[in-house]
Amino acid sequence: MSIIPTLLKQLVKKPFTNPFPKKHAPNKVSDVKKINDPIPVPDDFRGKIKYDRAKCIGCRMCVTVCPANAMEYLPKEKKIKHHVLRCIMCAECVDVCPVKALSSSKEFLLAETDKKSPNLIEK
Ligand code: SF4
Ligand code: SF4
Repeated sequence: MSIIPTLLKQLVKKPFTNPFPKKHAPNKVSDVKKINDPIPVPDDFRGKIKYDRAKCIGCRMCVTVCPANAMEYLPKEKKIKHHVLRCIMCAECVDVCPVKALSSSKEFLLAETDKKSPNLIEK
């Protein structure tokens, strides 16, 4: 079966992706007719890690297991700091945490204009 007809159709179709993260879209964008919603993710999706500071007992298991060095131990507070920009969302820390202080969320639209945004450093 030839792929030529499919290719020709794609050439005249508009892209489905958004030109920038939806949450940063201005209210009025004259050259963007429609902002596409993200597709729903499955229940077992591994998105941004959520940290429940109150539950954390400071055992450092997540720091030890993290392959991306995204977990930093805060010795004074005996808590952790999660560097979202380093995280590869493997969920190893979620599996190892003995008190379920970490969980995978469905959040994946993580683009920010400020790398020091609280959305990118959780503690
Ligand atoms: S999800 Fe993986 S990369 Fe991200 S903090 Fe946990 S162990 Fe590290
Ligand atoms: S594994 Fe859980 S309890 Fe231990 S330091 Fe990490 S978040 Fe806290």
